[in-house]
Amino acid sequence: MFTRRNFIKTGALAIAASAVTNPPKLFSQIRKSPAASKKMELTFWPYDAQLRHVFTIANFSRSTTPLVLTQITYDGYTGYGEAAMPPYLGENQDSVIAFLKRVDLSRFSSPFEIEDIMTYLEGLSTNNTAAKCAVDIALHDLMGKIMGQPWWKIWGFNPNTTPNTSFTIGLDTEEVVREKTKEASPFKVIKVKLGIDEATDKMMINTIRSVTDTVIAVDANQGWHDKHYALDMIYWLKERGVNMIEQPMPKLWLDESAWVTERSPLPVVADESCQRLTDVPKLKGAFTGINIKLMKCTGLREAREMVSLANALRMKLMIGCMTETSCAISAAAQLAPKMDWADLDGNLLIGNDCYSGMKIVDGKITLDDKPGIGIIKL
Ligand code: MG
Repeated sequence: MFTRRNFIKTGALAIAASAVTNPPKLFSQIRKSPAASKKMELTFWPYDAQLRHVFTIANFSRSTTPLVLTQITYDGYTGYGEAAMPPYLGENQDSVIAFLKRVDLSRFSSPFEIEDIMTYLEGLSTNNTAAKCAVDIALHDLMGKIMGQPWWKIWGFNPNTTPNTSFTIGLDTEEVVREKTKEASPFKVIKVKLGIDEATDKMMINTIRSVTDTVIAVDANQGWHDKHYALDMIYWLKERGVNMIEQPMPKLWLDESAWVTERSPLPVVADESCQRLTDVPKLKGAFTGINIKLMKCTGLREAREMVSLANALRMKLMIGCMTETSCAISAAAQLAPKMDWADLDGNLLIGNDCYSGMKIVDGKITLDDKPGIGIIKL
C-alpha cells in the first residue's frame, strides 16, 4: 500500500536526486559520475500531469492524468522512465508504486540484462503494463546513455522517415472546437475523437472544416456499435478529408471489424483491440494496422518486437501515446521512423512537463543525437 510516509520518503529521494543534477545541463546528465556504483538503483515518485484543456473522449472527461516517474542509476549514469495511467487501463499511482516496490534490480548485474529483467517483471504480475513500462523506458535511457547513442540509431532507423504527428482535439462545443482548431494550425494532421452520436460526430468534423482543410485522423474509441453505421460514417468522413479511422467498434468485435475493414475506403487501425505483442497476429485481416502505445505493451522492448511482427504480417503501423511528459513521448518517438502515422502530442497537452525532449518541427517528429531516449530533465 502506498502511504503518505513512503511518499515523503520517495519524494525526498527525488528532490535529493534533482538537486544533484540542478541546473539541468545535458552533459552533466549523461556524464559518468566519479562515484559510480555498479549496482542499479530504482527510484520512483508520483506526478500529476495538469491538462491545458479538459479532455473528453467517448466515455469520460478529465483534467489531470496521474503519472509515476522513475529513474534508474547505474555506474554513474541515470536513466529516466515514466508510467502514465489513464483510468481505463486499470492502473493508478498506488498500484504502480506498489508494483515498483516489489521490483528488485539487485538480482541483475547491468541494464543490458533487459531481456531477463523484463521477463522477471512479467513474472511479478500479468497486468501492470504501465508500471513495467516505467522500468523499461528508464533501462533504455540508461543503456543508450552508456552506449552514447539514441535508440533510433542503435536500431538502425532512418530519422528522415518520421511521419507528421497529429494534434488531438477532444469533443467540445462548436466555439471551443473552432478555437482548438486554430491552435492546432502548426500541425499537418488533426486527430478528432468521435463516437458519441451521429449529430455530435458530424458537428465536430463540420466545425473543424469551417476553419481548416488540414488532414483529419479520426479515433472513434470503440464508439460505433453497428458495422453498417460504421461503414457509412467512414464513407462520409472520407469525403471530408479524413485519412484514417482508429478503433471504430468495440475492441472484441473482430469479425465486424474485418467486415468494415474489407469494405472501408480508409485504413482502419486497432487501438483498444491491440494491447500486447500477442494480440497482433489475430488482428491481421480485422484491421489495416495497429496503434502501438508504450503504456499498453510494457515499453520499448516489446514495442520494437511489435514493429517487426506487424511488418512481417504486412500490417501498417501507428505510434500513439497517453497524456505523458516528454519522457515517455521521446521514448516512443525513437520508433517513429518505422511508423505510417504518429499521434505523439501527449506532452503538448500538459502544462507542467518536467522534461525536454523530442521536438515537432513543421508538424513532423524530429529526432536528434541525444543519447538514450533523448531527453533532458528540467
Ligand atoms: Mg485511440
